[in-house]
Amino acid sequence: MVYPIVVYGHPVLRKVAKDIGRDYQDLDQLIADLFETMYKSEGMGLAAPQIGKSVRMFVIDGTPLAEDEPELLNFKKVFINAHVTEKSGDLKLMGEGCLSIPNLREDVNRESHIRIQYYDADWEYHDEVFEGYKARIIQHEYDHLDGILFTDKVSPLRKRLLKGKLNAISKGKFEASYKTILPGQKIKSA
Ligand SMILES: [Zn+2]
Repeated sequence: MVYPIVVYGHPVLRKVAKDIGRDYQDLDQLIADLFETMYKSEGMGLAAPQIGKSVRMFVIDGTPLAEDEPELLNFKKVFINAHVTEKSGDLKLMGEGCLSIPNLREDVNRESHIRIQYYDADWEYHDEVFEGYKARIIQHEYDHLDGILFTDKVSPLRKRLLKGKLNAISKGKFEASYKTILPGQKIKSA
């Protein structure tokens, strides 16, 4: 099923998400729903807190960017119980957006190299290194698991300038092609 996307200002986006057990209820369904919701809202990544579930998992499919970034072709993955153990390399400033913060793009500095431990959809354990654009997408989604949003990472000046816009978004003053849940609205469990 397609879930509505939780919007900026909702407390679930600020929680530190928890690891799950292998016996987590309807895990396969949740993975399928995350992908379905991500594709429907034309995102390249979606973290469970964005559909109101405070668990450490996210999905990614970088294919839509593959024309400019060939390494992202079929870069489709599920990360469960994700933990970044290293971040290094040069900081690079690049524009980002987020389904939870509709119609807002800002430049964000991120490290070019990360190491991450996680389980995949078949509950296989991985300890992997990612670079460049892949590392950027993963870091954006991973931050959601720690209650961090990309707008937290802009310069103090930009942050001040964004305050009004973010405030408006949290009050529902935006257009989105997908269903959303505003702060204060209840998240229905499936
Ligand atoms: Zn996001």
